[in-house]
Amino acid sequence: MELSRLKEYARLIAGKGINVEKDEEVWIGAQATNVEFVRLVVEECYKLGAKKVKVNFYDDKIDRYTFQYMTVGNLCKVPEYTVSEYRYMAKHLPSRLWISGEDPDSLKGISQRKLIKRSISFGKKLKPLRDKTDGKYKWCIAAAPSLEWAKKVFPNLSDEEAVEALWEAILLTSRANGDAIENWNQHNADIIEHRKKLDALDLQYLEYKASNGTDFKVELIKGCTWGGGVELTDKKKEFNPNIPSEEVFTSPKAGSCDGIVYASKPLSYNGQLIDGFSIRFENGKVAEVKAKKNQKLLEEMVKLDEGASMLGEVALVPYDSPIRESGILFYDTLFDENAACHLAIGAGFKELLPDGPELTTEQAKERGINDSMTHVDFMIGTKDMEIVGTSFDGKKTVIFKDGNWAI
Ligand code: ZN
Repeated sequence: MELSRLKEYARLIAGKGINVEKDEEVWIGAQATNVEFVRLVVEECYKLGAKKVKVNFYDDKIDRYTFQYMTVGNLCKVPEYTVSEYRYMAKHLPSRLWISGEDPDSLKGISQRKLIKRSISFGKKLKPLRDKTDGKYKWCIAAAPSLEWAKKVFPNLSDEEAVEALWEAILLTSRANGDAIENWNQHNADIIEHRKKLDALDLQYLEYKASNGTDFKVELIKGCTWGGGVELTDKKKEFNPNIPSEEVFTSPKAGSCDGIVYASKPLSYNGQLIDGFSIRFENGKVAEVKAKKNQKLLEEMVKLDEGASMLGEVALVPYDSPIRESGILFYDTLFDENAACHLAIGAGFKELLPDGPELTTEQAKERGINDSMTHVDFMIGTKDMEIVGTSFDGKKTVIFKDGNWAI
C-alpha cells in the first residue's frame, strides 16, 4: 500500500479516532506484524502534541502458546502488574487505541473452557477498576491487516495480493480515501441526523421482522439516547471509538424482549466461528440458542455471567452500507457489525443516559442498562428487514423498510 495513503489513515486514527490533544498520554495495543503502520500512528500522535505514547505489541502465535501450554490455574491468576496498570489507567486516564489485525482462526482448537475461565477470572478482578474509567477517557479501535487475516478474507489470492486487497477494503470502508478527516466530518453529520430523529421519536418498543424468520420485540429505556459516530467523554472531549462505524445504537431495557432472531452473518468469537444460528428470547433472557456450527460455544457465550443472557445493545445499520456493499466477510466484528443491523448480548452503555457518566454501575443497572463483563455483537440485518417503532405515547413509525432507513 502506498505510504501516502497509509499516512492519511494514520492521521485519521490519531486526529479523529482518538483526537489526540496537547500533553496527552496515549496507549496503543497492536499486532507485532503491523509495526511499520504503528510507527506512522505514533508519529501522528506526537505531531498532535502527545506527551507520551506507549505501545504494547501482541502476537497471535505467542497468545496461542499461552493458552495451549499454561495450566488453567496459572492462566486465571491476574498478575499484580496488570492490576497496577489498571490502577494507573484509572488515575491518569490515558487515551487508548487498539489496532486490530488478528488471525480470526488464531485460537482454533484451544479449549474453550480455558478461554472462558480466564475471561471470568480476569473480568471479576479487573471490572471494578474498569468501571472507574468508564466514559472518562478517549478510545478508538481501528485495524491493519496481518497476513493470516488477509488470507482468511481472500483465500484465493497470493500472500502479497491478499494483504493489499485487505488494505484496500479497510481504507475504503473506513472512508480513509481522499481527505479522510473531511470524509468523517460529513459522515458524522449524517449519523447525528439519524440519532436526533430517533431521539425525537421517543421510542418505547422496536419490532423486527424479516423473511428468514426473525420476529422480535425489544423494549427501550425512557430517556436513553441514541449514539453513533462521534462520542464525548464526561469532560466533553470528542473521539470516534470505531473506525469504521456505520451504526446508530442504543442500550435497550435489560430483561425486556421477546421473540426469535436469526443471524444474518457468522460470528467470530474467541477465535472461532459460530455460524447459522438463532437466539430465542423469553422475558428478556436467552431461552434457547441453535447453531449449525459451534453450538456449544454459543451456549457458553450466553452463560458467561447473568448479564450475558440479556441484551446490552440494539444497533441500526442500513443494508446499503459500504461494508455490506463491499460483499466482504471480514471475520472481524469491527467491520462485520457495521454491515448490518445487530444486537449485542452483555454490557450496555450507561453513557447514553443523560446523567449516565455520573451513575455507578449499580445505579445504571436499576435504570435498565445491562451489566456484564462481556459484550458480543451479532448481525441480524437483512435485505428485507422491517423495523417498526412504537413511541411512549403509542404512536407507530416505520424505522426501517427493505433493510434501509425509512426515517
Ligand atoms: Zn454495535
